[in-house]
Amino acid sequence: MLATAVLEKNAYEVALENFDLAANALELDDNLRSMIKYPERILSVSVPVRMDSGKVVRFEGYRVQHSTMRGPAKGGIRFHPNVTIDEVKALATWMTWKCAVVNIPFGGGKGGVTCNPKALSMGELERLSRRYASSILPLIGPEKDIPAPDVYTTPQIMAWIMDTYSMNKGYPVSGVVTGKPISLGGSLGRNEATGRGVYYTVLSSCAHLGIPVKGARVVVQGFGNAGSIAAHLLDSAQARVIGASDSGIAIYNRLGLDIPKLMMHKERTGSLRNFPGAEVITPEELLALDCEILVPAALENAVTEENAGAVSAKIVAEAANGPVTPEADRIFDQKGIFLIPDILCNAGGVTVSYFEWVQDEQHLFWEAQDVYNRLERVMNTSFAEVLKIHLDRKVNMRLAANMLGIGRVAEAARIRGLYP
Ligand code: NAD
Repeated sequence: MLATAVLEKNAYEVALENFDLAANALELDDNLRSMIKYPERILSVSVPVRMDSGKVVRFEGYRVQHSTMRGPAKGGIRFHPNVTIDEVKALATWMTWKCAVVNIPFGGGKGGVTCNPKALSMGELERLSRRYASSILPLIGPEKDIPAPDVYTTPQIMAWIMDTYSMNKGYPVSGVVTGKPISLGGSLGRNEATGRGVYYTVLSSCAHLGIPVKGARVVVQGFGNAGSIAAHLLDSAQARVIGASDSGIAIYNRLGLDIPKLMMHKERTGSLRNFPGAEVITPEELLALDCEILVPAALENAVTEENAGAVSAKIVAEAANGPVTPEADRIFDQKGIFLIPDILCNAGGVTVSYFEWVQDEQHLFWEAQDVYNRLERVMNTSFAEVLKIHLDRKVNMRLAANMLGIGRVAEAARIRGLYP
């Protein structure tokens, strides 16, 4: 690395910094802070995988249980070349506050393997997923810790994890993971739940700020599961999605991109490249596009002190986890940009994961419309609760959401007390 390169913000330091801000605002005492701030359990594993060539390659994996204060640990698994233990700790921490914000009976966890799934064959990906699952097997289980998909992990990978776990138990245990294919006990509506939750919080924000959704210009960074579904629903509500990007390219059309066609194009070609009628722009230009709603839906540290000043959106909806750094938050505050913080904005995913787990445990499955209705109620209630703290306490939306989530976890810790 060049000495001049801008240092990436450490996501776990961001998580701790935001915890302290909320804990101070809540005036939490030091005893409670010690009980809830840090991960309860961290597992680091070696994942040896036989590649198609016959060679064995070793990957590093992690599973972090940040909290089981309010229920079993819950959180996705990420397969990405930049996965580090600190990133997984940060993501697990955010899961704890997120589950508390939407008031579902889960704690927070996260897992990851440092690998490039795009460079693996299907066979290699299956062997990696199964070996990783068996390595973290002592930690997971429907009553202990329930993984789900995250960046570059899919319903198929959840099926392999469920199968590996079940083979070890000797009977099928569908509640060990969520985000499974429907035929294995997945929930209708889970695949689009994160994007749908983002959509509901954007609608609530527009109503609060008096911005008409119809005709609102939307820009989506990261056209994956969360980003593309949010784009699709906003497009269906007659907003105009003018910009989108993935890891390879950013595209723009002043009049609006044809989102159903763009989704099919991405599905078919694996990229946004060569989409007819779109102009190619740089990732920096994408974030700076003149628009009403910006949806960062890729990875952490997308908006930092370097580029926050260029953002001209009125609403920033954090579909991704941790895309806006604390310095960028302060710049947004100065500019009057309304932020929908990640632990609220993207909580639709874990909410429908909770519904899936409930259905698996009861062996009784709901219709899609039931899932949507319940999700909408949860998102709207949580949004209203966060907004109330924002308005009553005159704090920004990030701090308001953290105060709600961390306050609920602290309350659970206070009531449970400590084993002597
Ligand atoms: P995904 O793998 O479906 O999509 C990720 C997308 O981001 C891909 O299109 C990829 O090309 C793109 N991308 C990667 N690096 C990029 C970059 N530098 N610039 C622009 N685009 C880039 O993943 P996902 O599940 O949609 O997750 C995206 C974000 O949403 C993550 O932060 C994840 O933690 C968060 N999230 C996901 C869920 C869920 O249920 N899937 C739930 C809550 C939060």
